[in-house]
Amino acid sequence: MAELYRNLIDGEMVSTAATLDVINPANEQVVGTVPACGPAELDRAVAAARRAFKTWSKTPVEQRRAAINAMSAAIADNHDELYRLLTSEQGKPHDQAQFEIGAASAMVAAQATLELTDVINEDTAERLSRTRRVPVGVVGGIVPWNFPLLMAVQKIAPAMLSGCTIVLKPSPFTPLTTLRFAELIKDLVPAGVVNIITGEDSLGPLITAHPDIDKITFTGSTATGKKIMEGASKDLKRITLELGGNDASIVLPDADVAKVAEQLFWSSFTNAGQICVAAKRIYIHEDIYDEMSQAIAAYARTVTVGDGAHQGTGVGPIQNKKQFDRVCELIEDAKAHGYKFLVGGNVDPSGSGYYVPITILDNPPEDARIVAEEQFGPVMPLMKFSTDEEVIERANNSDYGLAGAVWTKDTDRGVKIAEQLETGTVWINEFLHLSPFAPFGGHKQSGFGAEYGVEGLKEFTYSQVITVKRDALV
Ligand code: NAD
Repeated sequence: MAELYRNLIDGEMVSTAATLDVINPANEQVVGTVPACGPAELDRAVAAARRAFKTWSKTPVEQRRAAINAMSAAIADNHDELYRLLTSEQGKPHDQAQFEIGAASAMVAAQATLELTDVINEDTAERLSRTRRVPVGVVGGIVPWNFPLLMAVQKIAPAMLSGCTIVLKPSPFTPLTTLRFAELIKDLVPAGVVNIITGEDSLGPLITAHPDIDKITFTGSTATGKKIMEGASKDLKRITLELGGNDASIVLPDADVAKVAEQLFWSSFTNAGQICVAAKRIYIHEDIYDEMSQAIAAYARTVTVGDGAHQGTGVGPIQNKKQFDRVCELIEDAKAHGYKFLVGGNVDPSGSGYYVPITILDNPPEDARIVAEEQFGPVMPLMKFSTDEEVIERANNSDYGLAGAVWTKDTDRGVKIAEQLETGTVWINEFLHLSPFAPFGGHKQSGFGAEYGVEGLKEFTYSQVITVKRDALV
């Protein structure tokens, strides 16, 4: 029988009568069973967070930092157990799961070093005016299934540092690693400061609507983000939304094909393409298009698709059936329109597991669904362009605005292009690098607000201005 996991509410690991099964996408077997919480459990978690807020918000920041650092160490100390569990529920290959666990520990430690300092607005004989930051209160955190632990801790750590308390809901598809983390930190943080509860998608709107939650920090699809914004408007909850993307990578004619082809491949196919900031449209200058596309295709043929727990797997399964069906639909649409495939395109329906072969399309039109929509799977369209102006316009022709990349030896030209892209992040000659000290957030329909860095930390606070009139009573 699959292991029964429990939730963390008010410092205790608790079960519920109703449960949910969690499926390993590599073989469709149940790998764990988790509580299916409803309004009653949510109320208990929120009440615990509200009680804890009274003391946690007044706990000296150095003590809060110490608790966050202890969480980072707990992740690092249990690295091997956590990465195996992560692969079994999420599907990503072991080396990528190791990366996520390492990044989660490092991210938490880095967040603990951030500082919120007071700002003096006016310091005159007449008046002293100072802006300070105060925690918003109880935070509701909602996260997706592609980087379950990393996304959870990048909300928990800054919430805690700011003085907030949190009720976090993992995705119903990938709650196990986060619940194991909950067990590991149970005695490292005071009861009620961190609560982790699991349930169906329907638990999400209950969190958004809960009258005693002050802020929602959400990572997931743009469609759900819009519902959250609508739900949060009822009582004007603060919101941070990290949403979808359709990131463009632009490869200039001076890019070194031998050096760049493999990196371009992984910028799209890491985590089977299920990354908000994966390169989802690759524009290659016409002078090097044939050579570069052949080099990417040749490298792609050396990469194995399979169970992430098996040695040598480079690309794992799609995380869940719904997403698998969506990616298959996009491939079928490309076939129906007669677009040319450089690699892959034939999904084998026999056998278990949600496997999609590495698929690369050769110069499909700009309005193809595979180009215009976020695929979130191991399917990459390569497109030809002629001029910088043309490619900038095509890259910006999207409702999304999350990230992008430019590949060139001429970094000045790269930066000039980057400055014209309508996205929150642009990389020159690298990809997927997120710094815990730089604000990460989307333009347009890719998000609202930011995570990471001091800007991300501020999102868990209100500003309060205190003004002292110096000469009033003297
Ligand atoms: P999703 O929006 O379906 O689900 C995300 C979370 O929201 C889950 O925990 C889900 O249970 C919950 N949820 C579902 N319906 C809800 C509702 N009505 N109200 C409140 N919560 C609800 O997203 P997903 O399929 O899990 O993740 C994939 C998407 O996430 C992609 O679009 C991807 O680009 C995006 N993403 C963005 C970032 C980023 O930082 N910008 C990072 C990772 C993933």
